[in-house]
Amino acid sequence: MYANNQFTTNLINSNSIEICDQFYEHIIISGSNPYDRGVSYGRQVKQKIIANIDYYKNCGIFDDWPAVRRYIDDHYVSALKQYYPSGLAEMEGIANGADCLVEDIIMLNARYDLSRWSRHLNLQKKQQQQQPQECTGAVCLSTATNDGDVLIGQNWDINRRIMVDNIAVLLEIYPDPDEGIAPFFMFTEAGQLGRSGMNANGLGLVAMGLFASDEQYDDNGAQYLPVTLLRRMFIEAPSFSVALKRVTWLPRHVAVNMLVATAEDEAINIELTATNVFISYPSIKTGIYTHSNHFKSKGYLCSSSGVKDINRFASSLFRDRQLEKELTKRWPNIDDQSFVDSFKNHLGYPDSLCLHVPNKGKERSSTSPNECTVANIVYNLTKRTVRLCKGSPCAGVYREYRFSKSITNN
Ligand SMILES: [Zn+2]
Repeated sequence: MYANNQFTTNLINSNSIEICDQFYEHIIISGSNPYDRGVSYGRQVKQKIIANIDYYKNCGIFDDWPAVRRYIDDHYVSALKQYYPSGLAEMEGIANGADCLVEDIIMLNARYDLSRWSRHLNLQKKQQQQQPQECTGAVCLSTATNDGDVLIGQNWDINRRIMVDNIAVLLEIYPDPDEGIAPFFMFTEAGQLGRSGMNANGLGLVAMGLFASDEQYDDNGAQYLPVTLLRRMFIEAPSFSVALKRVTWLPRHVAVNMLVATAEDEAINIELTATNVFISYPSIKTGIYTHSNHFKSKGYLCSSSGVKDINRFASSLFRDRQLEKELTKRWPNIDDQSFVDSFKNHLGYPDSLCLHVPNKGKERSSTSPNECTVANIVYNLTKRTVRLCKGSPCAGVYREYRFSKSITNN
C-alpha cells in the first residue's frame, strides 16, 4: 500500500550542489558578519522568501496585517535588540538581499508565535481556528545504536504547500571565526533563521508544537523572543550548558517542545512554556526518547504550576508511542537507516506518524487534511552528518550532507 522506495544516499559537498525538485535546496552561507551572511541568504533564495511572505500575508492566519506589524514592533523588536542583536542584523541582511522589509522577515521567523496570538484573538471572538498537527521527533543515545552514535531527528508535519512550492531550505552556515560560533546546518522555511539543526561541535535540536494555557498576550509592551529564534540561538551556543540556558531563561510568550542532544552522549526534552520549563530524559537503559505534541514529562504531570495542556488531542496521543515502539524493536542496533525506517509507521492513517494527505473523498478521515509530512531529517551528531528527504519517509529519496569546509578549528 505504501511505497518504500529504496533508500538512496548521495554524499554531496559544496562543489556538487544541484537545484532539483526532488530535493530541497541546500545553500552555503559565509560572510564576515551576520548582516553580510543575511544578504547572501536573501539573494540566494529570494524567490522562495518572497513566496513565503506572500503566503503568510494572504493565507488567512492573519486577518489584520497592520495589527501584525504593530505586534512585531511592540513585542519583538526590543527583545531582539537586547537578547539577539546578531539575529536581528542577519534578518536585516536577509531583507536587503531579498528586497523586502525587515518586518516581513521578522514575521516569517515569528509566524509560529504570531499564529498563536491570532488564534488567541479569534478564540476571544468565539471564532473557531484549526489547530494543526505538528511533528514527531526522537533521539537515540549511544546505548541504543550499533556504532555508539547519537542520532536525533523528526518528521516535519505542516501544510503540504511547503513541499509542493519547494519552500524549505537546508542552510549550511560558516560564521566568521571572530564571532565564536561553530559552523552549523539548519533546516527551515525560506527566510527563517532555522527550525532544526546541528552544529560542528555536535549539538543538535529538533522541535515540535505545543499548546499551553499560560501563553502571554500582555498588551503593555512586554518583550518576547519568537521561540523559533531560540532554536537557532541554541545551535549557535558555544557549549551545551550555554545553549540550555538560552532556551530556558530568555523571555517567550508561547509554548514549544525542544528535543536537544549533544554528541557527548546526552539528551534532554524540554517542554517549554511561557512561564515554565518541564524536563525529561531518555532512560539510562534504552537511551531512547520520543515526543509529539502533548505534555508527557514527569515534571509536567507532577507540577503544581497550574499550566494546562490545551492541545485538542488527536494523533499526538499515539505518534510518539508508535515511534518509541518502532525504535524499541530495533534496539540496541539502531543505525541511520533503521532510525529513518522507524518514522514510516502508518497506524491511524492518514493521521499517522508518517502523516499523509487523505485520498480524495476521504477527507473526513483526517483532522488536518491539508497537512502531511513534508520532510524527514536526521542528524547524526557523532558523525556530523545530515540525512534529509523531501516528503514522507515512506516515499522520499534521501541525501546525506556533511560539512563541506574544514571544521577542525571550531
Ligand atoms: Zn507514509
